[in-house]
Amino acid sequence: MTDTATFAGLDPTTLGDLLRVAGLPGFDRWQDQIKRTGGCADPIHLRGWVLHKDKTTGEVLHRYSTEGEPGGRLRVACGNRRASRCPACAWTYAGDTYHLIRAGLAGDPDKDIPATVRDHPRVFATFTAPSFGPVHNRPDRGVCRCGVRHAPDDPVLGTALDPATYDYAGAVLFNNHAGELWMRFTNRLRREIAKRAGLTQRELADACRVSYGKVAEFQKRGAVHFHAVIRLDGPQGPESPPPSWASAGLLTDAIRAAVTHAYTSVSVPTAGDQPARTFQWGRQLDVRPVKAFGDGSDITEQAVAAYVAKYATKAAETTGTLDRRIGELSELDRHGVPDHARRLITACRDLDELYPDRRLWAWAHMLGFRGHFSSKSRRYSTTLGALRQARADFRATQEREALGLDDREPETVLILADWQYAGHGHTPGESALAATIARGIQANRETAREALADRRHLDAEGEW
Ligand SMILES: [Zn+2]
Ligand SMILES: [Zn+2]
Repeated sequence: MTDTATFAGLDPTTLGDLLRVAGLPGFDRWQDQIKRTGGCADPIHLRGWVLHKDKTTGEVLHRYSTEGEPGGRLRVACGNRRASRCPACAWTYAGDTYHLIRAGLAGDPDKDIPATVRDHPRVFATFTAPSFGPVHNRPDRGVCRCGVRHAPDDPVLGTALDPATYDYAGAVLFNNHAGELWMRFTNRLRREIAKRAGLTQRELADACRVSYGKVAEFQKRGAVHFHAVIRLDGPQGPESPPPSWASAGLLTDAIRAAVTHAYTSVSVPTAGDQPARTFQWGRQLDVRPVKAFGDGSDITEQAVAAYVAKYATKAAETTGTLDRRIGELSELDRHGVPDHARRLITACRDLDELYPDRRLWAWAHMLGFRGHFSSKSRRYSTTLGALRQARADFRATQEREALGLDDREPETVLILADWQYAGHGHTPGESALAATIARGIQANRETAREALADRRHLDAEGEW
C-alpha cells in the first residue's frame, strides 16, 4: 500500500476489510494477480491447474495449481468494455480502440499496416440520426427554443421540448436499424466512388478498396450516431497504393452523395398503431480530411484516435439508461432512470410485440441499438482480438521466462490444463485496493503514452 491518503474517505466497514485483506499471508500474491488484471473491478475467479510435460520423455517441466494462490483462486480480468461496470477493463478497451484506429491512420509496422497509409486519402466522418422532434439544446445563439440559456451540465439537455409529440418509437426504431443503415451506406459509397472514377463496380474492386473503422456513440437525446475513419487503399488493401484518381476530395464528395441517396435508407413497415417509417441519416453530416499533422482546418491522426477511444466505453449510459439488460420496468424506478430514457425504454417494450424479430425489449437498455460499438472493414487495421492475443502472448512469454521454459522448443512441450469457474468480484476492501492499483497503472501508462506521442511528433516533424 503506497498511498494511504487514497483510503481516507472509506467507510469503516470497507477500511476494516481492507486492513484484513492487507494482513492476510497471501496479500502480495493477491496484489500481483490484481496488477495483472490491470486493477479489474470484477475479476473472474478460476480454480485449476496447468502441467507442462516434455512430449518425448514425459518429464514434468512445470506444474502450476491455484491451490497455492490466495483463496485457492486465480483472478483474471473481466474484460468488460463499459466504464460503469469496470473502469480498469474499459480503460484497456479504450486503449485498444485507440491503437486500432491509430494503426489504420498512421500504420503500425508490428501489425502489418505500413506507414504509407498516411499518404492514402482518409477522412473522419460523423453520421448523425435524423430528428424525432425538438429537444432542449445550447445553440450558437445561446438561448434554447424554450427561452432558457441552459448550462452545459443541465440534465434537461437532449430531452424533448414536448414529450407529447416527440417520436420516441421512431427514435428507438432508428437505433435498432442503424447497423443496416450503415451497411446500405457502405454499399452506396462504393457505387459513388466508382461513378466518380469512371469505373464499373467490378473495375473499382480491382483498383481500389474502401476501408473503414467506426464507433457508435449516443447523443444526449438517446439517438445513436457513428464516427468513422474512411480510407481509400489500393486493390490489396493498406499495403498497396491507391489509384491516382483517389483523393480526399473525391472521397468526401462520394460520402456526401451516398448519405443523401435514396438507396441509403431503411424502411420499417406499419404495425399496430405504428406508421410505416423510412430512415435516413440526419442532415448534420461532418466530413473532414485527416492529416498527419493539422494545419488547423483538418483533424490530426492523434486527435481522431483519441476522440474515438473516448467514446468507445461510454455506451448508452450518458443518457441515464441502465448498463445491463432490463428484466422489468420497475427496475427503472429503483435506479432513478430519468424521464427521457425511461420513455425510450418503454417505447422498446411497447414495440417489442409489433416488431418481434427486432428484439427491441432485449436491447431496451441500449435504447434499441443492437449493433457493435466498434467495428471495421476487414482491411482497416489490426483487430481488437489481435491486440488481446498479442497481450496474452506477451504475458505467456513472461511466464515462460519466469518458469525457465524459454530454452525449450514449444513443440516439445505438452500442456495439460483444467480450469473451473469459481465466482467473481471483490470484497469491499479488495475493491478499494483494486481501484488504487488501476489508478496507479493508468497514471504510469498515460505518462508513457504521452512520451511516445511526443516522440512520434518529433520524428514526423523531422520528415517534413
Ligand atoms: Zn474488469
Ligand atoms: Zn430548453
